[in-house]
Amino acid sequence: IYSTSPMKELRTRVNKSDNARGPTESDQFDPNFIIYDNTTDTTYLRGRLLGKGGFARCYELLDLNSNKIYAGKIISKTRIAKPHQRQKIIREVDLQKNLKHRNVVEFHSFFEDDENVYIILENCSRKSLVHVIKHRKTLTEPEVRYYLQQLVEGAKYTHNNNIIHRDLKLGNMLLNEQMELKIADFGLATRLDFEGEKKMTVCGTPNYIAPEVLLKKGHSFSADIWAIGCIMYALLVGRPPFETTTLKETYLRITENTYTLPNSLSTLAKNLIRKCLSPIPEQRPSLDQIIQDDFFTCAYLPKVLSPACCFSVPKFP
Ligand code: ADP
Repeated sequence: IYSTSPMKELRTRVNKSDNARGPTESDQFDPNFIIYDNTTDTTYLRGRLLGKGGFARCYELLDLNSNKIYAGKIISKTRIAKPHQRQKIIREVDLQKNLKHRNVVEFHSFFEDDENVYIILENCSRKSLVHVIKHRKTLTEPEVRYYLQQLVEGAKYTHNNNIIHRDLKLGNMLLNEQMELKIADFGLATRLDFEGEKKMTVCGTPNYIAPEVLLKKGHSFSADIWAIGCIMYALLVGRPPFETTTLKETYLRITENTYTLPNSLSTLAKNLIRKCLSPIPEQRPSLDQIIQDDFFTCAYLPKVLSPACCFSVPKFP
């Protein structure tokens, strides 16, 4: 399955110090671990593990033709033997391949060999908001404005393309080297075929599932607004709004709209969370309304965020 390029040449190329990344970074790519895409005649070297999902292991991959680093989701064919499992991958690739926006993870290519299928994506080297919250526990309101604004921009673009993501959650909010937020994982997403269409079911279990999805009442774009409310809550409070010890109890709280807003939150934050977590989908704000909400317009919104914010509380002016 490999190209005929001799290993010696590969080693020489990967150790070249005149590339954009510099010599030290190339050390993390293993010249003994080669992935070859025979559809485009591209050779990749596998680097560090970025994360594991339900199906995939995701690694940094170095494209030896362009010297660019990508994220490669590697999915063992043994894990996608069942038709619904294959369907998830096909849907993901099909929905994501034409999306191009600063706040959506860019699809690069898709190929397979005897063992695996590979989805090659834009690399988000700073992992996800799950990792940030793990270190920080909670974020400041300016930081939450920074991340949410980008999430809303990415979601606006996705919705304008008639796609509902349906699984917006901290783990799918990835961060690139420059701390830009990128929406990832379109495995549970769906495309609406006509104006006003309602989807009845989801093949999978969204993390921040909206009540209308849970109750199979028919759902649409506003299911993503619900999830944005949950993300905002989780970033400010340090835990999801409806979290309990059992899924059954959590689902009960979702359908009964039972959650508490800690006093530590500002009134502006509380108000916006309440609106996004409205049990009636039509009463939730649109993405434009979110971004025009007082929470964003009446307080400080940082234009950039330092990577140090992944680990420590920033000081804002
Ligand atoms: P699965 O389809 O199996 O659920 P995910 O899409 O959740 O796989 O990916 C697994 C993990 O890999 C994610 O949690 C994330 O940490 C990491 N990951 C996925 N895509 C990227 C990317 N483009 N850049 C960096 N890390 C990524």
